[in-house]
Amino acid sequence: MTDTRAISLIMSLRGQGITDQRVLSAIERTPRETFVDDPFEANAYENSALPIACGQTISQPYIVALSTQELEIQANHRVLEIGTGSGYQAAVLAQLCRMVYTVERHKPLMQLAHSRFQQLKLHNIVTRHGDGFQGWPEQAPFDRILLTAAIPDLSPTLIDQLKPGGILVAPVGKPVSAESNSQDLVKIIRTEEGTSRQSLIPVVFVPMVPGLPQVNSDGETRK
Ligand code: SAH
Repeated sequence: MTDTRAISLIMSLRGQGITDQRVLSAIERTPRETFVDDPFEANAYENSALPIACGQTISQPYIVALSTQELEIQANHRVLEIGTGSGYQAAVLAQLCRMVYTVERHKPLMQLAHSRFQQLKLHNIVTRHGDGFQGWPEQAPFDRILLTAAIPDLSPTLIDQLKPGGILVAPVGKPVSAESNSQDLVKIIRTEEGTSRQSLIPVVFVPMVPGLPQVNSDGETRK
């Protein structure tokens, strides 16, 4: 049975202009409380981002909904996500497409997300511990690519992993600072001739960080 809090969340997303019924149903079916840490269980259905381990965040449901809607996903698609985080966005995508490939640089986050996918029997999500700046060349090309961490500039490495006709959605811009207080959520469509680019809305995402975190001799991980 759907949690009544999930129904209120869906109504609020509709009010914010999310019209794709398949996206709304996928969000309604995804138990967000499974993806937040215990202290935030009571806040799981609020339309806001929340902190998760390793200094990262689970995205706001509205941003998950908008990004997913703009990806125009079809049932036979293979989708690459960069930035697994809690696993929530991947779980929403998995209900709409054939296969989700998700990459995370923090191993503990990747492992926790993987166990959540098992628990929810989402067997069409494959996880990888790695640097998303490289994409996932062995599985490319993808029908769709979603970045859930902000990239300063979109690199050809990622766009080259998109099929012609494919769509990539990403927060593009520098980390939030005194000079810039948001990034741009950008939608790129790869055409035979090149790419077309559309700016959707200003957003605030954690930055994409190159390479893997270094683990020191005490087993502590540096960001
Ligand atoms: N999609 C997530 C939100 C994640 S926040 C969710 O639904 O919860 C962004 C994530 O991107 C963080 O977990 C961060 O560790 C990860 N990230 C940052 N840089 C990365 C990189 N270079 N490669 C892979 N993951 C990266």
